[in-house]
Amino acid sequence: MTANNSKSFWFIFYKDNILLEKRNGKHTIPNEYDSLIPTLPNVIVHEVASLDGIVCKTLSLDHPVEESDQYVMMGLRASYDYIEEKLYNMAGKAAEILHWDKNSRYCPACGIKTIQTTPICKQCPQCKQEYYPAIATAIIVLIRKDDSILLVHARNFRGTFHGLVAGFLETGETLEECVKREVMEETGLTINNITYFGNQPWPYPSGLMVGFTADYVSGEIKLQDEELSSGAFYTKDNLPELPRKLSMARRLIDHWLETQQ
Ligand SMILES: [Zn+2]
Repeated sequence: MTANNSKSFWFIFYKDNILLEKRNGKHTIPNEYDSLIPTLPNVIVHEVASLDGIVCKTLSLDHPVEESDQYVMMGLRASYDYIEEKLYNMAGKAAEILHWDKNSRYCPACGIKTIQTTPICKQCPQCKQEYYPAIATAIIVLIRKDDSILLVHARNFRGTFHGLVAGFLETGETLEECVKREVMEETGLTINNITYFGNQPWPYPSGLMVGFTADYVSGEIKLQDEELSSGAFYTKDNLPELPRKLSMARRLIDHWLETQQ
């Protein structure tokens, strides 16, 4: 049991940035805690899961780790291009645990301090209500029209790329109803053949992205101005800048491109 401290994966965050270790010309998640930071007063260490038999732990620092020959901090999204996918996925889970921890310190009903009872459960000592990490579900949809697809630029996109229509599931709604509503609200288009494609945890800050494909039926594109700044149907030879590889949007677009050869 005592060996765990010296051999764990350490997912160490400062705000949205994660600490990576540079080793043999590659980047990875540090796993030699003792050599990393000798003393970390007042830091809560959370156990996330285990990966290939190695315990994964996470913590949030109140100051960044200075860049050196050995360490660098970068945004979680950016880390996708540097570390193994299984480590990136675990980093996302770690980020969601930290987000939950920060936002569940007090019982929302009683206002008193909660107590952590398991790695993913806190309980109010007064009303006994239990609190688990909340996952916000969102849909994302690729809409086909003849040999083209609808690509939009949302005002909250981080960059100039074009992606797909997406939005959060509302209470009492099925995923398919959500797809229809979001597409109508954001673009004014009617669609059918809504088909499940896949899903992906989306730790920004704590979500699940559920991907669908659908077919255009009718309507002229009328963009919801507050959300979207541009949108149009594009053929494969005429594509704008696309979302990065880590996203469900890009997986949907790449899958569609494979069918257009
Ligand atoms: Zn309570």
